[in-house]
Amino acid sequence: MTLEKATLPVPQFDQITLDQLKTNIQQSISNGQQFIQELQRVPDSIQEQLKVLEQIDTLENQMSESWGVLSHLNAVMNNTETREVYQSLLPSLSEYYTQLGQHTALYQTYQHVHDSSLFESFPAAQQSAIKLALRDFKLSGVALEGADKERYAQISARLSQLSSDFSNHVLDATQAYFKPLTEQQLKGLPESSIELLKQYGQQRDLEQAVATLDIPSYLAIMTYADDRELREELYKAYTTRASDQSQQTEFDNTPVMEEILSLRQEMAKLLGFDNYAEYSLASKMAPSVQAVDQFLVELAEHARQPALKEIEDLKTIAAENGVTEIQPWDSTYYSEKLKVQQFNLSQEALKPYFPTPKVIQGLFSIVNRLYGIQVIEREAPLWHKDAHYYELEDQGIVIGGFYFDLYARSGKRGGAWMSGFRSRMQTNDGLQKPICYMVGNFTPPVGDQPALLTHDEVVTLFHEFGHGLHHMLTEVDNISVAGTHGVAWDAVELPSQFMEFWTWDNESLALISEHIETKESLPADLLKALLDARFFQSGMQTLRQIEFALFDLSIHKAAPALNAKQVQATLNDIRQKFSVLPTVPYNRFQNSFSHIFAGGYAAGYYSYKWAEVLASDAFDRFESEGIFNIETGKEFRQAILAVGGKDAALDAFVRFRGREPKIDALLRHQGWTNPTKSA
Ligand code: ZN
Repeated sequence: MTLEKATLPVPQFDQITLDQLKTNIQQSISNGQQFIQELQRVPDSIQEQLKVLEQIDTLENQMSESWGVLSHLNAVMNNTETREVYQSLLPSLSEYYTQLGQHTALYQTYQHVHDSSLFESFPAAQQSAIKLALRDFKLSGVALEGADKERYAQISARLSQLSSDFSNHVLDATQAYFKPLTEQQLKGLPESSIELLKQYGQQRDLEQAVATLDIPSYLAIMTYADDRELREELYKAYTTRASDQSQQTEFDNTPVMEEILSLRQEMAKLLGFDNYAEYSLASKMAPSVQAVDQFLVELAEHARQPALKEIEDLKTIAAENGVTEIQPWDSTYYSEKLKVQQFNLSQEALKPYFPTPKVIQGLFSIVNRLYGIQVIEREAPLWHKDAHYYELEDQGIVIGGFYFDLYARSGKRGGAWMSGFRSRMQTNDGLQKPICYMVGNFTPPVGDQPALLTHDEVVTLFHEFGHGLHHMLTEVDNISVAGTHGVAWDAVELPSQFMEFWTWDNESLALISEHIETKESLPADLLKALLDARFFQSGMQTLRQIEFALFDLSIHKAAPALNAKQVQATLNDIRQKFSVLPTVPYNRFQNSFSHIFAGGYAAGYYSYKWAEVLASDAFDRFESEGIFNIETGKEFRQAILAVGGKDAALDAFVRFRGREPKIDALLRHQGWTNPTKSA
């Protein structure tokens, strides 16, 4: 099949060299620095002041483009060269953003525009952008003087280095481990997993199957391997990654973590906050640290009874198999057995029904029915043979573009994410359309068959696509509030978790499933089993998320900052109170908790649960009005997806629902209250 060429100006991934990227980024940084150095005082006229704001947006747009390409390559094609270029630019980039955030004349220029009599006549997006910029100036220490200002700059620079180190250690520790397996050790694994592990062996010139710590491999072993010792070995290798408990202590993140916590606390203090959690909450939807704490503890109360029942069931099936004391490396394995027993459902039986091309095609037709948009694959230069490029059309007009890069491979960071490196923006050359990447670590294709996804992977794909739509369906032209920009972090997971609901519905499952060989869609018994099993262990899963969220919040509200021992004690204490699953003393989960040490989720991991309330409650309206109701879809698009950071998250939600969010739908969607929707 030949594809038409991309209509948007896409990055030339086949030609870009690291040297060029480096030059472009250095150029962007020096342009920015020169501009702010020349701005000594607030310009006299409002026109000139507005020109300054416009220029700042233009500079940000250039930076976002070249840095977005480099950091993407550093994340998905990581090697010594990308890493070296990335590392070499990090200090000056961080320095530039600190200078920008602390630039007094620039801050005053924004303030002047804000205070001018014209302000009220500006478009809403522009007003919001200016208000958010003023908030962010304060949060980046514009009011600091002398030594404090200098110290803030040092802290920022060091923190950006540390989070990059943290992430690299996790990647290196993950890649450093592999284990050739005997035939005996493969017992219990389905054929498709064995094929995958053999493929990993071939990539290392080995004849044996090889277990790695990449997610598809790790999960296959934990779910299916009958060999309990092997599961324990993998569990230990995985949960001690980047720690003092690991074989490779050179990747130990313990000192990195301690320094990050200490610097964050110091920074929060400098800015007048009692602790980093308060600083983090200053730009979020949740009103206070206490409100978040209370929300999580209350949710835990709802989850506790279901979770206790779930762990009893798990213990029973383990005991029936001769395991009297269930260990952490047993829980996934017996959960799978239990699922098969309770629902006659195995992940493996489902996989042939979710070949990637069908799932993707189904996803596109779902968003077409919901929002009236078309997705078309187009030809564009790519960085890897697994990547694809698509464009989004609305009534024949291209409104955005995106890349998929879905499969796990060596040199790619773990997890799944959307990254919007080019935003919608009004430029001198006309309207710039948004483009983003959506990256996953799904089970790669084995042999020449298309990749078969687990249902969990299907859910993840929909999740990331929700983020992507948020980025691409924006109707805001101002870079700092377009798409996900300027949206409160704890509301950002609304569109993503919202999309997940379409992986749990009869009608949409029919669109995304088709047996790889027979081409039949999901048969009635499997469909029923899948839907019945939806709430399987939802209590335990919720408690696990709450454990992570409370841990994150606790270590960031502790002042003075905790050392590694105290961090461990905090985690143990939270597990003691909230977890129903066993753990072991050597577990160093925190050492690879990249979300909070290398991502943007510090004192913000609760955002997933916070936004899930919003997503559930939004979907509740679709349940009443029809999940493919294009009118409801249109309203959701207009109220939530289109507005970016133009409207406060709560206002946007209220516009869609006609009232403030309620937790009831979430409890129902976890299977904890009556499943038939009332009214
Ligand atoms: Zn997400």
